[in-house]
Amino acid sequence: MPDAAPEFRPLTSCQICHSDTLTSLLFVGYIPPVNTMPAVGSVPEQQPAFPLELMRCPDCGHVQIGLEVAPEVLFPYSYPYLSGTTKILRENFADLFQESRALLPLAAGDLVVDIGSNDGTLLKNFLDGGCRVLGVEPSRAGEVAREQCVETLTAYFTAEVADRVAKEHGKAQLITAANVFAHIAEPHAVVEAILKLLDDDGVFVNESHYLLPLVETLQYDTIYHEHLRYYHLGALVRLLDEHGLEVFHVKPIPTHGGSIRVYAAGRGTRDIHASVADQLAKEDAAGITDGAAFQSFRARVVQSKLDLYALLAPLKAAGARIYGIGAPSRASTLINYTGLDDGILDCVLEVPGSHKLDKYVPGTRIPVLDEARLFDDPPEYALLLSWHIADDLMAILRRKGFEGRFIVPLPDPRVVD
Ligand SMILES: [Zn+2]
Repeated sequence: MPDAAPEFRPLTSCQICHSDTLTSLLFVGYIPPVNTMPAVGSVPEQQPAFPLELMRCPDCGHVQIGLEVAPEVLFPYSYPYLSGTTKILRENFADLFQESRALLPLAAGDLVVDIGSNDGTLLKNFLDGGCRVLGVEPSRAGEVAREQCVETLTAYFTAEVADRVAKEHGKAQLITAANVFAHIAEPHAVVEAILKLLDDDGVFVNESHYLLPLVETLQYDTIYHEHLRYYHLGALVRLLDEHGLEVFHVKPIPTHGGSIRVYAAGRGTRDIHASVADQLAKEDAAGITDGAAFQSFRARVVQSKLDLYALLAPLKAAGARIYGIGAPSRASTLINYTGLDDGILDCVLEVPGSHKLDKYVPGTRIPVLDEARLFDDPPEYALLLSWHIADDLMAILRRKGFEGRFIVPLPDPRVVD
């Protein structure tokens, strides 16, 4: 039998500054890949689970996980995530287009390349704005993009792919990477690949989930194997600077419970906006830079789990039924870390058309069912797994006719009437 490629690789050094003195912030558990979802009714079989530990580099302050799982395991061609299905993402991408067009500026016919372009939602904005666009996307989400006339290459973004694109399409005036820069194994190699494709006057825009709100609002549930790194601006500035790129503008954005948009260009080619120093000062003040913010992080996460059980125990004792609302990737970490099972959550509900319907939440026997169940057979409680958009979700579900109570599991578990 030929040797299979290893499914995982321990990350024992900092992926930004290469220091090998990482310290542990939180061991989340042995967590299954979030797309391991067997069909409802199938016989339980052996499932993979990988250790998930959040680590911090004391030398540069960078935060990452301690294990890389092979992308073929995490992002199979059948990867079910479609970005266009989320309203907040659609609005954010429209905003990114408007801001980029004003800052760069972009001319008709300029090439815009999106790394991890998913279903083409972001690039469609630039296409409609008169740019040439090219998506690079390994999953079948690229098929959806092509249907929208967004030209898409089915590939992982590598140096070879960057060379090929540059040869066939010319250099890019803008390269974007939205919620994907933390997913790729070697950040320095990605930046080098980007430089092969970026025009000398070009701009690289990166959007990543942001460490500052992660710590402040206890979003440990955004820690999963797809996310290798949890960026703060200090680490991004250092990473890009090593490759001659200078951050010239940043903007905190609301996606995924708090992200940051970072604009970078060749050193000395752009005026540096005050937003950069302002944001770095906020990180200093919040204890992100020197690590003070993490002294209480683990204890707060543990306490939130205990508080959730204290809240749920009397409800279950009284015979209440609880449905989970939404099965985003973060729900898998929350459910597996807190140990919620099908005796506590009857089911998790998803909107019609979701690829996750009629499958089990990874690592559990909690079925993912159609949202109609919430109204046809309403429970006493609905637990919001996309709690970072709790206010919007509660308003929508009330409008649709749900009359039960809501449970918001984080950062402080609470019941909302
Ligand atoms: Zn480091």
